[in-house]
Amino acid sequence: MEKYEILGLVGEGSYGMVMKCRNKETGRVVAIKKFLESEDDKMVKKIAMREIKLLKQLRHENLVNLLEVCKKKKRWYLVFEFVDHTVLDDLEMFPNGLDYNKVRKYLYQIIKGIGFCHSHNIIHRDIKPENILVSCSGIIKLCDFGFARTLAAPGEAYTDYVATRWYRAPELLVGDIKYGKAVDVWAIGCLVTEMLTGEPLFPGDSDIDQLYHIMKSLGNLIPRHQELFYKNPLFAGVRLPEVKELDPLEKRYSKLSVTIIEFAKRCLQTDPDKRPSCSELLQSDLFNKDCFAESSNLQLLSRKPGLREPASFFRYIC
Ligand code: ADP
Repeated sequence: MEKYEILGLVGEGSYGMVMKCRNKETGRVVAIKKFLESEDDKMVKKIAMREIKLLKQLRHENLVNLLEVCKKKKRWYLVFEFVDHTVLDDLEMFPNGLDYNKVRKYLYQIIKGIGFCHSHNIIHRDIKPENILVSCSGIIKLCDFGFARTLAAPGEAYTDYVATRWYRAPELLVGDIKYGKAVDVWAIGCLVTEMLTGEPLFPGDSDIDQLYHIMKSLGNLIPRHQELFYKNPLFAGVRLPEVKELDPLEKRYSKLSVTIIEFAKRCLQTDPDKRPSCSELLQSDLFNKDCFAESSNLQLLSRKPGLREPASFFRYIC
């Protein structure tokens, strides 16, 4: 790690911090994720190991590129290519939302990145504006694979899950232990309207409030989710909210086009089995009308598979 000089702090999470650094020999600017001490904290170790393992498998132009891994004095360090800013930064700069064509370009790449993870049976599980990096030339790179995990085998359940509430699908909120790729598609639905309006779609301040926001917009949960809610000890004594009058997306966002509303609603089906796959989303009118492909230079963005860095690109420096 001595070969890097610290330029500044770019992010801080529950399990460590991310610093902007420069390689003193090559001048290359990188982002170094420094985990908390992992010897005493099993969760930190688990998250670091999971992120390293998954990032080694996942090489794609829309996923952040891991350059080096190092362990020093009981701490893990992950060295990434440095990416200019995040979608959250964009939204802070434009609080009323981003330009329609920019949103389409971002979304297209976000879906490609997630679709690539899904094709490797990996769910990201924490898609949100601060985990979507944007390069100076507008290339999207998804980051933070600390919560990502491999799809459970049939009959196997996931247990250790905590992710950002606003982007959480109903199956996660009610505590369904069998969930799948559709949780990432839900998060895409939440992102679409937020990127276009600057307003988070379902900003719940507790899990029950989160469910209320969802039901107010989309109606009742599916029967399986209702049952799971009433069986979940975390909600003992709590009743599901009764929504008297729906506030559907088309009414709340009357200025957004039908194409956008339809796209968001497909991602936000309360029944996860009805949500489209990423490849189906890429076929949506949103990306196949108004000369999207021609105008967005996406031909340039989708590099040929052969151009990916070879596996040997990984170097362990300790
Ligand atoms: P944590 O798991 O601790 O939340 P993340 O991987 O989500 O860490 O990164 C936290 C923040 O650091 C991100 O929201 C982003 O602002 C910044 N960041 C992460 N990776 C990079 C990168 N490769 N280049 C630039 N900034 C990054």
